[in-house]
Amino acid sequence: MRLILLGPPGAGKGTQAARLVEKYRIAHLSTGDMLRAAIAAETPIGLKAKDIMASGALVPDEVVVGIIADRIEQGDCANGFILDGFPRTVPQAEALDALLKQKKLKLDAVVQLLVNEAILLQRVENRIAQMKERGEAIRADDNVEALAKRLEVYRGQTEPLVHYYGDRRMLATVDGMKSIDEVTAEIGRILAAAAAPAPAKPKKPARPKAKPAEPRPAKKASPAAKKAKKTAKRPKSVKSAKKAGKPAPKAAKAGGKGLKKAAKKTAKKAVKTRAKGRKRLTKRR
Ligand code: ADP
Repeated sequence: MRLILLGPPGAGKGTQAARLVEKYRIAHLSTGDMLRAAIAAETPIGLKAKDIMASGALVPDEVVVGIIADRIEQGDCANGFILDGFPRTVPQAEALDALLKQKKLKLDAVVQLLVNEAILLQRVENRIAQMKERGEAIRADDNVEALAKRLEVYRGQTEPLVHYYGDRRMLATVDGMKSIDEVTAEIGRILAAAAAPAPAKPKKPARPKAKPAEPRPAKKASPAAKKAKKTAKRPKSVKSAKKAGKPAPKAAKAGGKGLKKAAKKTAKKAVKTRAKGRKRLTKRR
């Protein structure tokens, strides 16, 4: 199972991804989490991404595409994966298509979580309050200004993916305003439908039975055999072969050298019969 979860910040992608990972035993690939880990580890990517992320802007496409290309190679992705927060731009979606094509993999579905924007701010505020309660560090981009920027970026750069995947008939939309369980159930139905075999195509009217295939000549037929075969094919020759009491299909049964022999015999007979025919004609004249 390979799917994309699409939706603005606070839509519930992370919550649903955690449930799907359990259910389908697939990997959860969140570019946001990977970038935050890179920042914590102070890797070159982390250092590059730190300030961009804190402002709510997007990290360059080539950075996230590189991260995903490496990540889907890993063993825990063999059974499938959920992409959460990737792709976020059309060039990222195109890069993903190319990656999957190269690996001969297919996406099963793209699930869009549709939410009312007015509720997003409230959801993120709740998330911040819960994190504080648990004594967890607050995300650098979980504040009013960065959230406004993240929403603006979503509308401008990520929402076009709705058309991108819609045009490819891969998009399924879920009402993200429903309860967490209802959303999970709806995604489950979408994935079950995506995994089901395609309905059988209507049967074409039955074709008349094909004639048995003509024997193929041996690959390197001698010029004599080629000539003989040509002659043997002509209706006159077949007729004369029949007249001579030996059925033409003998050649059909023969293969390789046998075929050459049979073709030669048929050809000889054909020449004789034609000569006889000519004699008869001259007599009549
Ligand atoms: P959310 O979906 O809640 O906004 P994420 O954890 O998915 O948060 O992402 C947080 C930030 O990480 C983004 O605002 C952006 O700066 C960066 N980021 C994550 N994924 C991508 C991506 N695919 N392309 C560019 N930047 C990304």
